[in-house]
Amino acid sequence: MGLTLFNSLGKTKEQFKPKNEDEVTVYCCGPTVYDYAHVGNLRTFLFEDVLIRFLEFKGYKVKFVMNITDVDDKTIKAAKNNNTTLKEYTNRFTDEFFKDLQSLNVKEAVKYPRATDYIKDIESHIIKLQVEEYCYERNGSYYYAINKFSRYGNLSGLEVNNEKNKTRLNEDEYTKDNAQDFALWKAWDKDDGDVYWEGELGKGRPGWHIECSVMSTKILGEEIDIHAGGVDLIFPHHENEIAQTEAVTNKRFVRYWIHSEHLIVEGKKMSKSEGNFFTLRDLLDKGYDAKNIRFLLISSHYRSQLNFTFDGINQAKESINRIQETYSKILECKPEIGTNTEISIATKESKKAFEEALDDDLDMPKALASIFKFIRNINKYLETKQVSEENKSEIIDYFETIDKILGILSNKTIEFDDGIKELIEQRDKAREKKDWKRSDEIREELRNKGFIVEDTEEGTRIKRN
Ligand code: AMP
Ligand code: ZN
Repeated sequence: MGLTLFNSLGKTKEQFKPKNEDEVTVYCCGPTVYDYAHVGNLRTFLFEDVLIRFLEFKGYKVKFVMNITDVDDKTIKAAKNNNTTLKEYTNRFTDEFFKDLQSLNVKEAVKYPRATDYIKDIESHIIKLQVEEYCYERNGSYYYAINKFSRYGNLSGLEVNNEKNKTRLNEDEYTKDNAQDFALWKAWDKDDGDVYWEGELGKGRPGWHIECSVMSTKILGEEIDIHAGGVDLIFPHHENEIAQTEAVTNKRFVRYWIHSEHLIVEGKKMSKSEGNFFTLRDLLDKGYDAKNIRFLLISSHYRSQLNFTFDGINQAKESINRIQETYSKILECKPEIGTNTEISIATKESKKAFEEALDDDLDMPKALASIFKFIRNINKYLETKQVSEENKSEIIDYFETIDKILGILSNKTIEFDDGIKELIEQRDKAREKKDWKRSDEIREELRNKGFIVEDTEEGTRIKRN
């Protein structure tokens, strides 16, 4: 069957077929770097990470680009309030964004273009739009005339208001022909301070939407396979991107528009303006582990809203522990000689079930259910010592395969610091002397330090609490 994805343009699940068989081009709308990203934003970036990882899993070479919006009203205002330059300010939050991605084990894009590095290309794109009469100038600002683009509204289903509707947005500066027209270039305003470019379009700065049209076509070409973002970007951002790009190229800009649903808090979208948000550092400071946050944010279906709770992070931790525990047991187990075909078949089937679930529009809940089913099975085989040498390597391969997408497992046996090693040795000695009281005391001490001790037939096992 192969991979199917829900295309927002047309609103159906479609068989995925890239333009070129062996390379997939993906553009994701990145953050506006005026502050730390909140975990709602990070849910979208993690969904995109799962998408990229799965495309690679399917054997595609993926060329993935994510832009950084480093000039807009919010960044300009924040830099001014912090008495610093736009560049210095946005560099700081771009670095913080990269740190978040690294903590969450997100794969790097081949390029993270910044809007301010593409001003010349933006200006020439706007001029092309003007030549083709998709754009008009009013008081030094340039607007896109949406009435001129016949497919405007196809992505979002928006009805275009065809009546000429003279609207004055800002009495002094902006006058548009139609209320729905949007700015491609904004004439300099005193609030912009020293943030402006003075080229072919006069003193001003780009609107938000134009940067993605220009950077994506410049880096990935005029026809892109996948363009992704959160659902709030469908309108106006992505609708406008299509209009800006296709008016110039006369080609189909994007084959698959993929949008992920929001992270919500008590029924409301997590957002800066609602004040109902947490940044990753807020959660790490509270003692939560990035790995558990990653798992929580990728574990529901990307087209379903996900309710953020602290209990959710704790449940994610338990889920990871269950998967990791079986994986560690397999890594450490002393296998039997020979082969157990029942286990071989179960492992192959489970691997197939995992891939088939993700093939179906990245159905992560179904993929996870197949993993937990497999783990219950394997735990039984481990208890009854039926795992053979061959099974062991098949099962290790299974865990390595699923972790190409999940990105949460560790194949290292736990490394202990000297204090913990000392306690484990003391406990072993106490047990040799059958000093059970001392042995239990040390077990308790280890538990307080975050380690659980299990005495098995194969020796003492230590795992993280
Ligand atoms: P921004 O930095 O505001 O441009 O947003 C960056 C990305 O985060 C975009 O793809 C948004 O659609 C997405 N986003 C914003 N809020 C949420 C949320 N509560 N849940 C999921 N994604 C979000
Ligand atoms: Zn964008």
